[in-house]
Amino acid sequence: MKTYEMYINGEWTKSANEAVIDVLNPSSSEKIGEIPRGTKEDVDRAVRAAAAAFRTEEWRSYSAFDRGDLLFAIADKMQESKDELAELETTDVGKPLSQAYADVDAAIRYFRFYGGAADKVMGDTLPIQDGLLDYVVREPVGVTAHIIPWNYPLQIISRSVAAAIATGNTVVVKSAEDTPLTALRLSEFFAELDLPAGVFNHVTGYGYEAGAALAGHPLINQLTFTGSVATGISVGQAAMANVVPATLELGGKSPNIVFADCDVEATVAGVVRSIIQNAGQTCSAGARLLVEESFKDEFLKKVIEQFGKLTIGAGIEDKDIGPILNERQFDRVMGMINIAREEGEILFGGNQMTVEGFENGFYIEPTIVDGVSPHSRIAQEEVFGPVLTVFTFKDTEEALELANSTDYGLVAGVWTKDINRAHYLASRIDSGQVFINNYGAGGGVQMPFGGYKKSGFGREKGWAALDNYTTLKNVAVKYR
Ligand code: NAD
Repeated sequence: MKTYEMYINGEWTKSANEAVIDVLNPSSSEKIGEIPRGTKEDVDRAVRAAAAAFRTEEWRSYSAFDRGDLLFAIADKMQESKDELAELETTDVGKPLSQAYADVDAAIRYFRFYGGAADKVMGDTLPIQDGLLDYVVREPVGVTAHIIPWNYPLQIISRSVAAAIATGNTVVVKSAEDTPLTALRLSEFFAELDLPAGVFNHVTGYGYEAGAALAGHPLINQLTFTGSVATGISVGQAAMANVVPATLELGGKSPNIVFADCDVEATVAGVVRSIIQNAGQTCSAGARLLVEESFKDEFLKKVIEQFGKLTIGAGIEDKDIGPILNERQFDRVMGMINIAREEGEILFGGNQMTVEGFENGFYIEPTIVDGVSPHSRIAQEEVFGPVLTVFTFKDTEEALELANSTDYGLVAGVWTKDINRAHYLASRIDSGQVFINNYGAGGGVQMPFGGYKKSGFGREKGWAALDNYTTLKNVAVKYR
């Protein structure tokens, strides 16, 4: 049990009213720490510090190359502390240890990717007329606000903070109240860098307090948010009230579209992995299986066989599936499963599990739901648990209609050996990423990530994210 402080204006601090929030290990529900319950006043201090730091000559004097070096230094510190970070993430989020290691690897790659990008973010010159030099400069936007979800805290902080620092901005992070620990460790790494005070700030606390205060603060210049649609709408509105641009990444109900001509073994592995990763608590989870009708029985038999082999346990035991975050999320997932039980059929799982030695954790069997309408809640809403819902189609057009039949559009998988069909579907699916004969491509730090429809707007990751953290200035010089 450790008591943590948050990092504001180059100092470690309690919250203004000294209130705290308990942090629990999802695998056991055991209390593992206490974090400051950041207030509106704390957020105001952090944002003002970031705004002041942004205007200092000291921060301006960091060249693009220097900023890249800062990010490489963070990557090196993370690399040295890889075991510690992975164990911390497992303890805090509940995810199997090997998945936490993969998250740490991806987080390191974000710092290296944006460290390398820092001195390559270039402007342009425009041909207007003789005697007029017109150039476009990419400038940092200023204070960037980062509201982080609980499911992939280290990865998600890393992807946006690294891009923001690479481009010369200052940062205020609001970590998720349930899983703040790797974000706090990352804050220690920033504190060790001897940066100008206020360049990097981290406020811990509840969404409705600290998060809302950050989203609505008049001195932020950019907001990035990952989480639920309802909260995304509210933070987007708060930002818009100050004419602040927001990137919203709001989850999905992603389909895996499986044709009878697929590579069966690879497809089964891809479909299963995409729904059980982080116990299904993943925005890009492959939550809907759309399978060609004539192939359904054969394919499902193999998927069920694989589900039967999956192991469940505490994060640190590194089984295939860890616990659900907490009782609230558990109730939500079981509620959805129970509705599906009444409306359709549970082909596999569907029950709570007890893990020996971790009886107070919230574990759910991997679950397959069949026979529900494509309009039912479980077909349309994010479950955020290890629950796969099955639908069938007769031909490519019906597959496409089903794939596009939810309000979301984050990721889609297409599994077929017919290259024409695969590319046709990729061109027609309303989704920010389409994977053909794979799902996720190992995380893909370089790939722009974000959604169509209610999955949000704007893109994080890759080169595309640098647009979020820069603004354009056109300068026209008459010299003749
Ligand atoms: P949430 O969207 O409420 O929380 C995400 C982040 O926003 C957290 O840091 C939270 O503190 C903050 N927040 C909450 N209310 C806020 C407000 N009014 N203003 C500013 N910030 C605020 O998510 P949740 O309640 O933790 O989870 C609920 C559901 O959201 C999940 O079941 C899942 O379906 C979805 N979700 C999606 C993702 C994703 O990766 N897209 C991540 C987490 C949760």
